[in-house]
Amino acid sequence: MPLIVHRCRTLGRVNYRSDAIVVGGGIAGICAALELLEGGMRVLLLDRDEETAFGGLAREAFGGIFVVGSPEQRRAGFRDTPEAALADWVSFGELPESEHWPRAWASAYVHRSLADVRGWLKERGVGFFPIPHWVERGERRRGNSAPRFHLVWGTGQELASVLARALRTHRNAQGLTLKFGHRVEELVTGAGAVRGCRGRLEAGGEEFEAEADCVIAAEPLACRYEVRSAAASAIQGGRS
Ligand SMILES: Cc1cc2nc3c(=O)[nH]c(=O)nc-3n(C[C@H](O)[C@H](O)[C@H](O)COP(=O)(O)OP(=O)(O)OC[C@H]3O[C@@H](n4cnc5c(N)ncnc54)[C@H](O)[C@@H]3O)c2cc1C
Repeated sequence: MPLIVHRCRTLGRVNYRSDAIVVGGGIAGICAALELLEGGMRVLLLDRDEETAFGGLAREAFGGIFVVGSPEQRRAGFRDTPEAALADWVSFGELPESEHWPRAWASAYVHRSLADVRGWLKERGVGFFPIPHWVERGERRRGNSAPRFHLVWGTGQELASVLARALRTHRNAQGLTLKFGHRVEELVTGAGAVRGCRGRLEAGGEEFEAEADCVIAAEPLACRYEVRSAAASAIQGGRS
C-alpha cells in the first residue's frame, strides 16, 4: 500500500503532501472531501478542533434542508417547482436584478437541490422526516409559498455523523488523511496559484506546511486569506 500523505519533518516543521487539501471539517469540508475521494484524489483534511467535534456547527444545527419538488412535498399535497421557488427566493431575499451572482446561485440551487442535495445525501445514508416544514417558522409573507424545509432524520447531529462515517468508510478511504488540532494560518502560493497552506498545531504550536494541487478553504473565515481569488482558480483548476 503506498504512503497516502507524505509526512516528514524538516527543520522542526511537519510537512504533508497530498493531491488535495480541505481546510475545515465542518459539513462543507466533509462534503468537499467526499467528492474529492469520489474523484480518486488523495485528500488531506485539516481541522483546528478536536476529533470529537468533527462535523463542526452542523452538530448543533436543526438540520433543515431547502429542497424543491421533493416526494415529501408531493405526499403533503404540494406541487412545487424551481420557478416558484426561485420567485420566492428572490422576493424573500429582496434580490434586485443587479445582484447577478446571488441570483445565479439561487437559480442553480432551486434547479439542482432535488438531485444534488436531497439525492446526494440520501445516497450516503441520510434520511428525512416524512413531512416538509415551512422555513422561518412559517412566516407567510410573499416568498414562502410552499414548505421546503426538509428536516434530516436525527437532526444536524445525525447529518454530521452519517457523512463523517461515509467519509471514513468510503471505498477510496485509503486516500484520506484526517488531521485534527491543525490550525491553518495562511495559504502558500507560487506561480500564480495556491500550492498549499501553512499553520500550527494547536497543541504545542509546532509549525506545519502542506502542499497540494488543489486547496479548498471550507471554514467560515476563509475570506481572510488574501489570495482568495487565486484559491478559487486553484479549486477550479484542480483535478477531479
Ligand atoms: C443552532 C443552529 C441551528 C442551525 N440550523 C440550521 C438548519 O436547520 N439548516 C441549515 O441549513 N443550517 C442551520 N444552521 C447553520 C449550519 O449549521 C451551518 O451553516 C453549517 O453547519 C456550517 O458548516 P461549515 O462546514 O460551513 O462551517 P463549520 O461547521 O463552522 O465548520 C468549519 C470547520 O473549520 C474549522 N476551522 C475553523 N478555522 C480553522 C482554521 N484556521 N484551520 C483549520 N480549521 C479551521 C472548524 O474547527 C470547523 O470544524 C444552524 C446553526 C446553528 C448554530
